[in-house]
Formats: sequence, structure tokens, C-alpha cells
Amino acid sequence: MPLATSIRLVLFGPPGVGKGTQAAGIRARAGVPHISTGEMLREAMKNGSPLGQAVRAVVERGELVPDALIGDLVEERLSRPDAGSGFLLDGYPRTLAQADRLERYLAGKGLRLDGVVNLSVPEPEIIDRLTGRRVCPSCGALYHVRYSRPKVEGVCDRCGASLRARSDDTREAIGERLRIYHEQTAPLVARYQRDGLLVTVDGRGQPHEVLDRIVAAFPALRR
Ligand code: AMP
Repeated sequence: MPLATSIRLVLFGPPGVGKGTQAAGIRARAGVPHISTGEMLREAMKNGSPLGQAVRAVVERGELVPDALIGDLVEERLSRPDAGSGFLLDGYPRTLAQADRLERYLAGKGLRLDGVVNLSVPEPEIIDRLTGRRVCPSCGALYHVRYSRPKVEGVCDRCGASLRARSDDTREAIGERLRIYHEQTAPLVARYQRDGLLVTVDGRGQPHEVLDRIVAAFPALRR
């Protein structure tokens, strides 16, 4: 277990830019929880909980679930003891309203974000990453049909479960997610830049190369 580092980061960027992969690497260094709103919703959908049933159609079309719903979910998660010394938010905030709510929530506790990592990859590469992405429905491990293949095709190296494409990694939903990113999420770049929190990191290359760039920008992550 790494030594816990007190750091509050947002991993930001379009779908498929590598937020989940980098979150795993940062988490291993900082020892703070990785809070992925997409993962939380997929877990709820898998369990068939009322939340999961309520959001399934929206998520599968690639649209955003309502700000109020996701805000409640995130605040409940941030209030748990393991997020007390820091967190790594992945996929939240995604709208200006969500960013405002997060800022108010943290300010109410006398806290603020330490930084926003804006991962950047050219759009054709993003589409390629998303269409070839495969996930393990059991342990969450990530693969790609060409760039990050499991040892046995279609089988998770870590736990042996059958790999799948995410239900929102269809061409149609990918198009919708990118459209929504540009329309509703990208405006946050200017806001976090203005707040002096934004660090833009080149997301191309091997995951460890991208992680090195992130660590270089945040000394608290250095070992
Ligand atoms: P992700 O795993 O981050 O790509 O999220 C998958 C899907 O979950 C998104 O396309 C949305 O439908 C939903 N979702 C995740 N995070 C949020 C958020 N912050 N606001 C609204 N919807 C979200």
C-alpha cells in the first residue's frame, strides 16, 4: 500500500483519453481513492438498483445523467472516510453546474482542488481507442483490441472473465459523447485555467509515459 498523499485532483478530458488508465497509476502512487462517476453508474446498472435502472437508457445513448443526481452521488462518496485525505475524481465534473457544486461542497469543508489534469489526445486517436476498447466486467481491467491485448483473446489476464465492449462504446454513442463533451464539458477548460488549476498533459504514448508527465506536474505524486 503506498503512503497516502493528501491530494485532490480531477482527471479531465474527453471520453477515451485515458482517464481510467491514468487514475489507476496515480492511485497506486498517492493512495487516495479513485472516484469514477461512470464506474459508479455502471456498477448500479450491473446490480439493477433503482439508480441503475433510472440511468441505463441515458448512459447507453451517451447522454449525461442529470446534474442533481450525479452531484448527490459524488457528495455521498466524498463524505466517506477514505476520501478524507484526498481523492482522484474521474469523469466529474462534466458541466459548469457540476463544477460549481463541487467547489461549493469543498469550500464548505475549507478545502479546494489541488489541480485538474487535462489529458489531451487528437480526436481520431480517441475514436480508435474507444471503438477498440474492451473491459473486464468483473474486475474492471482495461484492454484494447490492438494496443493492449490480453494474453488469451477475449479473456481477462487478471481474473479470467470474458472481456466485453462497454455498452456505450458503440459508434453512435461515441459520436454523442464527443458532441456532448465539446458542448458541455470543454468549457470547463477555460474555467479551470482561470482558476490556475489546469495542467494540460499530452495523453499520447504508453500509459507509463503519460503518468510520468502527470507526476512531473504534481510534485506531491513523486516517490
Ligand atoms: P465515463 O465512464 O466517465 O465515460 O461515463 C460513462 C457515462 O456515464 C457517461 O457517458 C454519462 O452517461 C454518465 N456519466 C458519468 N459521469 C457523469 C457526469 N459527471 N455527469 C453526467 N453523466 C455522467
